This record gives sequence, structure tokens and C-alpha cells, in this order.
Amino acid sequence: MTAAAPLTYPLAGLLGEPPGERRRYPVSGVTIPLPGDLRLVEPIEGTVEIVRTNRGVLVEAGLHAAIEAECARCLRAIEVPIDVEVAEEALPSIDLASGTPVDASSEPDVARLTDHHELELGPLVAEAISLAEPIAPLCEEACPGLCPTCGERLGPGHAAHPEDDIDPRLEALRAFRVDGGDENG
Ligand SMILES: [Zn+2]
Ligand SMILES: [Zn+2]
Repeated sequence: MTAAAPLTYPLAGLLGEPPGERRRYPVSGVTIPLPGDLRLVEPIEGTVEIVRTNRGVLVEAGLHAAIEAECARCLRAIEVPIDVEVAEEALPSIDLASGTPVDASSEPDVARLTDHHELELGPLVAEAISLAEPIAPLCEEACPGLCPTCGERLGPGHAAHPEDDIDPRLEALRAFRVDGGDENG
């Protein structure tokens, strides 16, 4: 017997109840596989609320986690907090009255419950987390970035380079620029 995947909710009971009935599930300490290189550094916390609708269920989840990322300026590893909201209708794939498979081809894009009336929310949450990943996260708003000379992170702990570290060819170029300053004036 295999353990149920995280964020999987058996809904046969709720589907037998009238529209408007709801279940509330706390989410705590949950980890799920994420697409690509994404990795959780803090497990998923929050709540999932599932409401019976005329046709199926409405899923509303408010979840928090943190993922591993790299500062876009200094490239050090950072934790990025992520908040995701999921609001999605899911329909049965088995007709409740007849027990026969529902023809899903007329609505191919809608989320479906499993053949056992389970909601598998994990993939939806994984997708929402990957969409919430910031494009250029920073370790801090004022991250000074990397030193162009030595490649170390600037700021406290980075020793200034003595002038004589400068490439003599760059020094020559600098002198040239200063001398050429009058050219247009
Ligand atoms: Zn940084
Ligand atoms: Zn440096």
C-alpha cells in the first residue's frame, strides 16, 4: 500500500453532499516535487478549502513556502518567500450517479478529480509556485553586487584593491580619455 501523495484530498464524501458544503484542510510541513531546478527550503503551510459546487468542487488555497534562489547581483544562495493563491474548479471524472466515466473531451482544460474522487492539488500548487518565482531576486534591496576586479561580493568584508592592481593598459586608456576631454569643447 502506498501513502497518498501530499496535498491529495479524498472527496467522495463531500461530493455526496449538497452544493455549498465545504471542507477546510490545514496544510503544514508539506513538501512536493517542483519543476526544473526549483527546490523548497521551507515546507508549504496554509489552508485548503474545498466547496461543493453544482458540477464538482471549487478549490481555494492560500499557501506559503520558501524556495532556494540565487541573488541576481551577487549570485549567493538566498531563500525567497513565496505566497500562492489557488482558485480552481475541479470536476469529477466519474459520473456520481451512474459510476461511468465522464466524457471530458468537451472541457479538456478543466481540472479533474481522479477516478477515485480524489483531488490531487500537488501539481497545481507546484505550478503556482514556479509561476510565483521572482525573475531577479536580490539578497537585499541594496545588494552591491560583485567586484569587477576580483569577482568577490562587494560591501563589508571586501578589501579595496590598491591602485597598482589596475592593469597598466587600462591606466593608459584612462589617461587617454582625460587628455581627449577637450576634443569636443
Ligand atoms: Zn546579492
Ligand atoms: Zn575585489
